[in-house]
Amino acid sequence: MGQAGKATCRACGHGFWLSAGGGFAAQIVFCEDCGRGESVFHNQQRLGGDDPSAIVGTCPRCQGSLRLDAPPRCPRCRSDDLAQGPGEMLWD
Ligand SMILES: [Zn+2]
Ligand SMILES: [Zn+2]
Repeated sequence: MGQAGKATCRACGHGFWLSAGGGFAAQIVFCEDCGRGESVFHNQQRLGGDDPSAIVGTCPRCQGSLRLDAPPRCPRCRSDDLAQGPGEMLWD
């Protein structure tokens, strides 16, 4: 199931909406370069197999790599030091 919540960047104070998690057929994976979250379809299979840091796609914004263990980042300054509000991230 997907999750969405408000996040605040501790580095610059920017507040933004962050969605994360996965659904029946897709999982949100973040770009390791800009932190953009993209839905990657997995057809109910485990993305990346047994590799927890596998690259599973290409970022449509910066052409960077969508990597399973890449953290979400602030869209303004790209810091990954984020404070998350209620509705915390849950991965299944
Ligand atoms: Zn920031
Ligand atoms: Zn990117």
